[in-house]
Amino acid sequence: VLAVWAGHVELLDGDEVDRLRRLAADAPAEATESVLEEVRQLRHALYPTLLDRAVREFTTVAQYAERAVRWLRLTQLPDAPARWRLPDEVGLERPLLAAACSAAELLSSPDRDLVRACPADDCGWLFLDRRGRRRWCSMETCGNRSKARAFTERHRN
Ligand SMILES: [Zn+2]
Repeated sequence: VLAVWAGHVELLDGDEVDRLRRLAADAPAEATESVLEEVRQLRHALYPTLLDRAVREFTTVAQYAERAVRWLRLTQLPDAPARWRLPDEVGLERPLLAAACSAAELLSSPDRDLVRACPADDCGWLFLDRRGRRRWCSMETCGNRSKARAFTERHRN
């Protein structure tokens, strides 16, 4: 579950997802469960932090980010610029720490003021509104559902 989620939000590439799956399969259930619990805690803290600068949850996000940064290694890639990477030893915590790193990157970039929450009732996604015109997380899902709902309501009367 953890590995699939992290792959889905593009925190990890395909090989890393496979490696994480094998690790999770061999690890005791409590170990996987405790990482998942921390992922949930980070996600809960991150949501309000991205929408409002003044919330106390920022401290929680910062603690996870600082924990992740202690692991980072500057790695030279053969045909690309060097990159900060999490080494293999982080094991099961990789998606947690990768999420904390990208949260920190976003929070410290000018883009942090472009984060919006999708207004659909059952959605809960956050997105970046780069041109100041986006209303829904995705026009294909929430945008269309809301248009369809408005259409039925107009035609009911
Ligand atoms: Zn949405």
